[in-house]
Amino acid sequence: MASSDQTISAALERLAAIVSENVDQLVDAFYSTFLVHEEASAYLSHSVVNQRLRYSLRQWLLDLVGKDMRSDTSGFEQRQIKIGEVHARLRVPNDIVMEGMTLLKTEIARRVSALGLDAATTAETIILLGESIDFAMRYMTEAYVSDTRSRAQTDEAFRLFSLGQDINLERETQRAALMEWSQSVLFSLLGEKSEKPGNMLSSSPFGLWVRHRAAVLFQGSTILGGIEDLIRQIDQQTIPAISDRGPAAISDLQRRVDEIKYLLNDLFQTAANLENGRDPLTRTLNRRFLPSILGREISLAKSAGSPFALLMVDVDHFKTINDTYGHSAGDAVLGCVAEHLLGAVGSSDYVFRYGGEEFLIALVETDRTEAHIIAERIRQGIAAQRPVVSETRRVDITASIGVASFEGHPDYQYMINAADKALYRAKQEGRNRVCMAPDGSSGAAAPEALVNNYG
Ligand code: GH3
Ligand code: MG
Ligand code: MG
Repeated sequence: MASSDQTISAALERLAAIVSENVDQLVDAFYSTFLVHEEASAYLSHSVVNQRLRYSLRQWLLDLVGKDMRSDTSGFEQRQIKIGEVHARLRVPNDIVMEGMTLLKTEIARRVSALGLDAATTAETIILLGESIDFAMRYMTEAYVSDTRSRAQTDEAFRLFSLGQDINLERETQRAALMEWSQSVLFSLLGEKSEKPGNMLSSSPFGLWVRHRAAVLFQGSTILGGIEDLIRQIDQQTIPAISDRGPAAISDLQRRVDEIKYLLNDLFQTAANLENGRDPLTRTLNRRFLPSILGREISLAKSAGSPFALLMVDVDHFKTINDTYGHSAGDAVLGCVAEHLLGAVGSSDYVFRYGGEEFLIALVETDRTEAHIIAERIRQGIAAQRPVVSETRRVDITASIGVASFEGHPDYQYMINAADKALYRAKQEGRNRVCMAPDGSSGAAAPEALVNNYG
């Protein structure tokens, strides 16, 4: 449709009028759908968020139609990027956001249609609506994806997580891929003596795996560096020489391939040791990783000025479950809670088994308010679980959570103490709740104050 500037600005005005006249209805329609939405409700049901989000959505809608984004962008993109980053920090899956956008489009389009304008004008307005929302969504998604991806790629947790349980399978697959490549080189030599084998190791499936997947799984490993060197030597020296120098070059190839196999074994062995850092019952991280991981996160937060939060999660009346249904029922409950925790946080966050039925969660680049929202979601998620404790029985469980945010103190133990203290309050106040450490409590206050506060 060829739209003149005039019809566009008329459509914009119409859209702005419809959205601002109906803004409260639109916000209501949005939340009445999403508060009962199976997946999305987990991100919305807390009343504080609810009040806050209602206001944010209202502002967002007015912002959306307030400007002609083709001529005057005045920070609109920046605001969408910010929203995308917040979604990433709150671990809201992008498909839920997209579903929300679709809902808004439909609600607004219905109201446009109801105006009873002529077909061309109605279409013009609805097209503009679609463009505006997609434009905002593009920036939001971009920020969301780059935020999630950049963290995932640089993070230790991602490697531990990616390795998962398939480590043996992965090793065998790659060993076989390497052998297949070296055999194909030898066969092509035997067959066509005059022709140089064309396949480079670096472009074989094994080479691709090293360059892409291993680079993430074993990031920065010196062993991996050694493998990459050998691949380069084979491709640049051994292969070109192979048909001229005959047997000498073939044994050279075999020697280098054997060396890669050896290094590959080492690489996976090291990874298996890391894998052992997980608690076998819950698959959460062993607390012996606490000092190095929290130390590193605190120095990252300090140098980048980024936020960081800890949640201390403790299952309520767990001893009663053990006493009533037996220890293995207790173990099943722990497995269920841990699975929920691992699923509720982002791939760059860390879940440690801190004690018997206590878990410590480190939320990277997450501020106080966000940590509170996530903790509340986790609490509700646990309360909704009904783990199986025997063939005929499920039990109701709850957990209490203490939250502390990074306030500048270099010692992570201060943060742990603050989260622990908040957890204690949550227990005192009746359990199945989230308590926040007082603002500034884990921070750089005078040491005396911390001693007084936390004994
Ligand atoms: P509260 O609500 O105050 O947290 O009470 P609680 O009963 O959960 O806390 P308490 O610290 O009194 O009891 C924790 C129990 O957890 C005691 C211990 O026997 C049990 N426990 C610790 N580790 C394990 C485990 O690996 N498996 C099982 N089944 N039980 C465990
Ligand atoms: Mg407990
Ligand atoms: Mg406990």
